[in-house]
Amino acid sequence: MALDFQNTQIAFASKRSNDLRQSALLFRLMASPKLVALSQQLTRFAFWLHLPVNGLIKSTVFKQFCGGESVTSSIPAARVLWQQGIGAILDYSVEGQESETAFEASANTIMETIQLAAVEEGVPLSVFKMTGLASADLLCKISSQEALNAKETQQWQAVKERVNRITQLAEDLDVPLMVDAEESWIQDAIDQLVHEAMKAHNQNKVIIMNTIQCYRMGRVEYLKQALEQATQDGIHYGVKLVRGAYMEKERERAKSMGYPSPIQPDKAGSDKEFNDCTQVMLDAIGTAMEPGKAALVIASHNESSNAMGVQSLEDRGWKPGQAPVWFAQLYGMSDHLSFNLAAAHHPVVKYLPFGPVKKVMPYLFRRAEENTSIKGQTGRELRLIQQELRRRSIDKS
Ligand SMILES: Cc1cc2nc3c(=O)[nH]c(=O)nc-3n(C[C@H](O)[C@H](O)[C@H](O)COP(=O)(O)OP(=O)(O)OC[C@H]3O[C@@H](n4cnc5c(N)ncnc54)[C@H](O)[C@@H]3O)c2cc1C
Repeated sequence: MALDFQNTQIAFASKRSNDLRQSALLFRLMASPKLVALSQQLTRFAFWLHLPVNGLIKSTVFKQFCGGESVTSSIPAARVLWQQGIGAILDYSVEGQESETAFEASANTIMETIQLAAVEEGVPLSVFKMTGLASADLLCKISSQEALNAKETQQWQAVKERVNRITQLAEDLDVPLMVDAEESWIQDAIDQLVHEAMKAHNQNKVIIMNTIQCYRMGRVEYLKQALEQATQDGIHYGVKLVRGAYMEKERERAKSMGYPSPIQPDKAGSDKEFNDCTQVMLDAIGTAMEPGKAALVIASHNESSNAMGVQSLEDRGWKPGQAPVWFAQLYGMSDHLSFNLAAAHHPVVKYLPFGPVKKVMPYLFRRAEENTSIKGQTGRELRLIQQELRRRSIDKS
């Protein structure tokens, strides 16, 4: 089937008209930056007062962007996606934890997601964030090569032990595992841990995958070096390519601390870096006749990036679904890409965030902010939902 990202009939086939109307209302509300800022304040205040707002959040913004409050309660949402050939990646979206007990609990939940992926056909990959297992301060110290005190040395050992436990389980159960990228000042420590895990578990195939944020300067060179290193180590290399989620925070920190911003000067710079990294990875993946030792996740809501990925695979002689390349979007967003790619037999996965309502609020606030009219995503989502609702009403009449 020819790929048409504007085909809303395919994009929203699994959604009832009532669900679409609710989503349209939500995206309309999120279009206002003032309303989004006000809702954030009110929600924080309501939680602080212990007001019973869980139900309201669960039936609105949580329902749009999350699968459930636990691994088990997220399975139905994953199965609905799988009916249309879309895989789910259960993403434990609890952020900003600081205690060793919380890190241990996160490690156990991440292992639960890997165990689910091993048995649930519609859950082909898994993922975790290093800040779920380690404090950002510690990751920052390691990244800036600061000396650790005795307590921090012990904490770092515990982080490594958690990462080993998780990555070993991924290898034992044969579940590819991605590690998300975070702020640049903690990323060196994350890269270091991921590199060690790749050396341990990617001997025969890609199990561990890192993430590269293409809004950072010099990522093409970084990727080429990582591929070179993997060749020297005799291992397979896997990466998820994203543009990057922390642009404002990165620029503000660089400005306030007086160092050059690590972020591309403009959107066109990030787009070029993303496209160039994609081509470098596709070269490493090779052709259908001569496959390499690499795997790629193209994680983007950008239509051109996804279209370019599809075209480049075709140019290299790959039939849809043959190459070790996944296309990835977030649950509740860009269904026009996910469902149309899947209908054209490309491997598609969606992050399915989960966690207790109160604890996933930072994730939900980020989605809401990303969807304000200023950031542009809302226009796209809303227009497509409205297009589909109009199509359905014409079909009925
Ligand atoms: C499945 C999945 C996994 C993800 N995992 C991660 C992750 O591990 N780490 C992470 O940081 N993010 C992650 N993201 C988020 C991602 O980095 C982007 O923030 C988001 O996807 C928007 O980029 P885009 O390619 O979809 O679309 P687009 O709308 O084309 O691009 C928007 C992005 O372009 C960049 N940009 C915008 N304006 C400028 C400017 N003026 N100058 C320079 N750059 C600019 C920013 O990165 C912005 O987010 C993930 C996204 C998906 C879909």
